[in-house]
Amino acid sequence: MQNQNAKKILVTGACGYIGSHTVVDLINNGYEVIGIDNFVNSDDSCLNGIEEITGVRVKNYEVDLCDLASTKAVFEQNQDIVGVIHFAALKSVPESVLQPLSYYHNNTESLINLIEAMDCLNVRNLIFSSSCSVYGNAEELPVTESTPMKEAQSPYARTKQIGEDLLRDLGQTDSKIRSILLRYFNPAGAHPSGLIGESPLNTATSLVPVITETAIGKRESMMVYGDDYITRDGSCVRDFIHVMDLANAHTKALQYLFSNEEIPPAEIFNLGIGTGVTVLEAIHAFEEVSGQKLNYKIGPRREGDVIAIYANPAKAISKLGWTPTFTIEEIMRSAWRWQMRTKGLYESS
Ligand code: NAD
Repeated sequence: MQNQNAKKILVTGACGYIGSHTVVDLINNGYEVIGIDNFVNSDDSCLNGIEEITGVRVKNYEVDLCDLASTKAVFEQNQDIVGVIHFAALKSVPESVLQPLSYYHNNTESLINLIEAMDCLNVRNLIFSSSCSVYGNAEELPVTESTPMKEAQSPYARTKQIGEDLLRDLGQTDSKIRSILLRYFNPAGAHPSGLIGESPLNTATSLVPVITETAIGKRESMMVYGDDYITRDGSCVRDFIHVMDLANAHTKALQYLFSNEEIPPAEIFNLGIGTGVTVLEAIHAFEEVSGQKLNYKIGPRREGDVIAIYANPAKAISKLGWTPTFTIEEIMRSAWRWQMRTKGLYESS
């Protein structure tokens, strides 16, 4: 049972990868949660995992946020919503290069509709899932919140820049909606129980699920896109952040919104752990914790990939009181546990 006196939070994309882990963190911190997810890249099976972990069955509304009337109806039926975390979006960089229209359509229209619905029902607090991809090929590393945004390298990244611009513009008006923009670096790993994890319906393109799917035999082999970049081993550099650390940053960001009346409009926070790991180093970390040799090949560079990016998370640490705790090894261990569980090879206790 959810705590009926708790603040009610709407999580869009609640059945997706980061959404489902954040739902767990919110419930564990005493919030009541409802979700909206149209299952374009998920199904409702994670609701069982969330229930096993928290003891709470979360209600998800199967609504497409591009449908304004249905989105408003959710708010009308839940007039006690006090905050929204907006995860719902299409997120594959290569797919966005092939299908830009569906990315612009889904990611911008869903945000606009959500804001309209919040506005109608006087819901003030919004957290927006942004991405380090808004920095493009950043000129300085590590990236701080004031590092200039460069040209987006994909239509997906451009939809995140547009979402941010929209919320910044809104913040300059007398709109009552206050927003926080969280720029994630590379979310990875799974809940330590192995009961929820990353299981996209669409083909996984993020590195860690590609690694674990290869190790379990779902893919014959995997490709490392480029080993001739100017990095320490020639492969791209990323800042892998455990999904439970990331989830907790959302809870902290909500608490920050609730306890600070005056915040800068559309305030930005970088969420990474501040350490760059190369793609080849990540593969070797997986091989070490799993004891599996990975069948990977070196291929050409991939369109839309930035060369190297990692965060300076000092602002989130000091202003949100957030502390990331998981290492790359723990990321790999939990992702592997989740992958084995989906194959019935691991039983959580
Ligand atoms: P995900 O695909 O696992 O989850 C997104 C969920 O939103 C899915 O369950 C999908 O069904 C739902 N959804 C999409 N469009 C919808 C719509 N119009 N109406 C209702 N539901 C809809 O993705 P994720 O990895 O959990 O990412 C969450 C957010 O974080 C996204 O906005 C993504 O762009 C952003 N982000 C993700 C990463 C990453 O590597 N995973 C990195 C940076 C930013």
